[in-house]
Amino acid sequence: MIAGGGVIGTAIAWRAALVGLAVTLVDPDDDADKASLVAAGMLGPVSESVFGERDLLNLNLLAISRFPGFNAELEQAAGQQTGLRTEGTLAVAYDGGDMAALNRLTAFRRSIGLQARELDGRRCRELEPFLAPGTRGGVLATGDLSVDNRRYLAALREAARKAGVATLTGAVTAVRQGAGHVRVTVSGADAELSAPQAVVAAGWAAGKIDGVPETIRKALRPVKGQILRLRHPRGMPPILTHTVRATVGGRDVYLVPRADGEVVVGATQEERGDTTATAGAVHDLLRDAMTALPAISELTFAEVSVGLRPGTQDNGPIVGLAAGLIIAAGHFRNGILLSAATADAVTELLSGREPSAQWLPFAPGRLG
Ligand SMILES: Cc1cc2nc3c(=O)[nH]c(=O)nc-3n(C[C@H](O)[C@H](O)[C@H](O)COP(=O)(O)OP(=O)(O)OC[C@H]3O[C@@H](n4cnc5c(N)ncnc54)[C@H](O)[C@@H]3O)c2cc1C
Repeated sequence: MIAGGGVIGTAIAWRAALVGLAVTLVDPDDDADKASLVAAGMLGPVSESVFGERDLLNLNLLAISRFPGFNAELEQAAGQQTGLRTEGTLAVAYDGGDMAALNRLTAFRRSIGLQARELDGRRCRELEPFLAPGTRGGVLATGDLSVDNRRYLAALREAARKAGVATLTGAVTAVRQGAGHVRVTVSGADAELSAPQAVVAAGWAAGKIDGVPETIRKALRPVKGQILRLRHPRGMPPILTHTVRATVGGRDVYLVPRADGEVVVGATQEERGDTTATAGAVHDLLRDAMTALPAISELTFAEVSVGLRPGTQDNGPIVGLAAGLIIAAGHFRNGILLSAATADAVTELLSGREPSAQWLPFAPGRLG
């Protein structure tokens, strides 16, 4: 039994079914409740990890090396495309301070064996002609990827269905360890299941399930993110090919292009657990994005959406055995990137084996 049908739970369900396990995926089936559908889909091992988070960086590097192969298998199994893009990330700067910060990031990327190419402003604008004329310079990270996270989750669901995963609509309220089995209470479906193994992959809400150890419940918190989706008017050519990251007035903004011309603009990071969109956030994101790429003012405003990242006290995910359960939660800002590697790790655990060494620092035992 797997609790939670976001990218983490669904990726695990698919891979577990592929190794021959009987899998039931329990989820309330409320798409408004999934960070996985709100995310931007950037797969950048460095951009989202802060200097000093070395263990997380090692894990992200494992994840990015695994993603293309996993995704190719997924597209084949589901018969659907996920919109994986390989052009890389172009980080741009407007003043001396931003440029210095970018140069430090470039040196760091190179020191860990990743590619990073410094570009002057003119070269940046050759790559992305709609960048603001004031762009001073940038760095192209060629190994970064991005995926259309909505298509990706749809493909995971289809692959899981084809592999024989059963689904149950409802919320798991309690998981209790018995002799050789776990008793699972599901509200909504009004059901009680008995399963040989239980995986808790319910995002930030994993901590609300009874029977999940207190240390894990305490470690998880929702981190609100507001994000925009803009679309091209019919007939207008795409205005972006790379993911662009910029620092504008000290605030970070990113623009992620999709194959169909959509541009995702994000995102706020707020220590709150509500899902209301605010006028101020929409204003700030649009203002900063337009400073970087003025042409986006020609695009159609399609959507503002709000998601709750599953945050943890040390920014790392929680993956491993705890009190007879398998926990796969707390993927914070990197859940799309980490989904394939997490599915591998949990499939190993379900089969009685150890996951790769990069997961050791993220075992539940480190908490508390
Ligand atoms: C604005 C924003 C931008 C982001 N951008 C990126 C990005 O560019 N790249 C990246 O890698 N990551 C990004 N993330 C982070 C990423 O979205 C998350 O880390 C990831 O989606 C977590 O996946 P999940 O499956 O654990 O959680 P979720 O997608 O939240 O899914 C959890 C599921 O569990 C279900 N659930 C809850 N309680 C229960 C219960 N009791 N029983 C059963 N089911 C339950 C929920 O209904 C939901 O379906 C972003 C997040 C946000 C908010």
